[in-house]
Amino acid sequence: MVVKINENYLLIQNSYLFVEVERRANKYQEENPDKNIIKMGIGDVTKPLAKTVVKAFKDAVEEMGHSDTFHGYGPEQGYDFLQKAIIDNEFKPLGVNFDLDEVFISDGAKCDTGNIQEIFGIDNTIAVTDPVYPVYVDTNVMAGRTGPIMDNGMFEGIVYLPCTEENDFVPELPKEPVDIIYLCFPNNPTGETLTKEQLTVFVNYAIENDAIILFDAAYECFIQEEDVPHSIYEIPGAKKVAIEFRSYSKTAGFTGTRCAYTIVPKDIEITASNKEIVKLNDLWNRRQTTKFNGVSYPVQRAAESIYTEQGQKEIKENLAYYNENAKLIRESFLKMGLNTYGGVNSPYVWVKTPEGVDSWKFFDILLEEANVVGTPGSGFGPSGEGYLRLTAFNTHENTKEAMDRISKLSF
Ligand code: PLP
Repeated sequence: MVVKINENYLLIQNSYLFVEVERRANKYQEENPDKNIIKMGIGDVTKPLAKTVVKAFKDAVEEMGHSDTFHGYGPEQGYDFLQKAIIDNEFKPLGVNFDLDEVFISDGAKCDTGNIQEIFGIDNTIAVTDPVYPVYVDTNVMAGRTGPIMDNGMFEGIVYLPCTEENDFVPELPKEPVDIIYLCFPNNPTGETLTKEQLTVFVNYAIENDAIILFDAAYECFIQEEDVPHSIYEIPGAKKVAIEFRSYSKTAGFTGTRCAYTIVPKDIEITASNKEIVKLNDLWNRRQTTKFNGVSYPVQRAAESIYTEQGQKEIKENLAYYNENAKLIRESFLKMGLNTYGGVNSPYVWVKTPEGVDSWKFFDILLEEANVVGTPGSGFGPSGEGYLRLTAFNTHENTKEAMDRISKLSF
């Protein structure tokens, strides 16, 4: 064989976190067929699409069936009706404006946060918060931007910014020079947020050090508290240094429908090695037009419909439902005397495991003694050890039942 594979793929750890969670839950179920397992591990929504969304979706499909309203390939960057709806409804109320060509519609924030690293040189140093959404790390490993994983669970060459109860889940600025910083707030997995002041520290760092911030705001729709920024662009200067990712997955139950968007401001300019000043917006546009053929017309019409008055009412009802579950999970664990975080501006609750119990052990206890599936914090990075994540996406009934069962355990 002369074909050579991309050996960087071999550096990725074999057992993907959720595969192992599923394996353990299935094994337990096979051995205990009479037990009713409640799954609160994976971050997938359970509420169906809102009625307004379904109608817009169906109407657009109908259009596709008639020659005078049929749509073939759309713009790779998305239709302008959706770009405009996003600017008018998501950003103008925050006092921020964008041109249509700064908004790129896509089929997911997972793809965008994974693909964005392609427009940056291989020798950039990246920083991630720890624990972290694994996509940021693994896509950089695949690209060859890191060395192998070390005994401490960290990849060589990546700068990890710990977020633990010791620092209130607020990352410190990197001590060594970094070029690109991934931030996700409200955070997956900790469920914690940054204040405007705390986010300003990172924006100022990026401005002063010519760094770029990749800001994942996939959970922005769960923010309930006043002083929590919904967008990094609420921070002065961010348009020069930050790319922001948003998604309809959690906002409007689009996990199976697929629609998201990324803002790449034209103000972000980088000097290339030949001294040419390059806009990241142009590079991302080049990337998308080369490798992506746009999101389907009906899906973009469906996404647009959430900005109608009725659409807003319906999706907010669903979000309130999940927020209610998060509150119940959070308060139940606090009542049990366990340190518990998140769950206020986020569908994720991050529980500190009892003294002397590690993440996987706590996972097994909840599975075997309460038949509840969570996600071990250690799977999100070394600083996640000693925590477990539960999600608020199950039904009220199951969430309550799960909390009743867990509350009967003694730790
Ligand atoms: N970003 C974060 C932090 C997530 O947790 C997730 C999904 O769980 C995504 C992005 C993926 O979003 P999408 O469904 O739009 O691909």
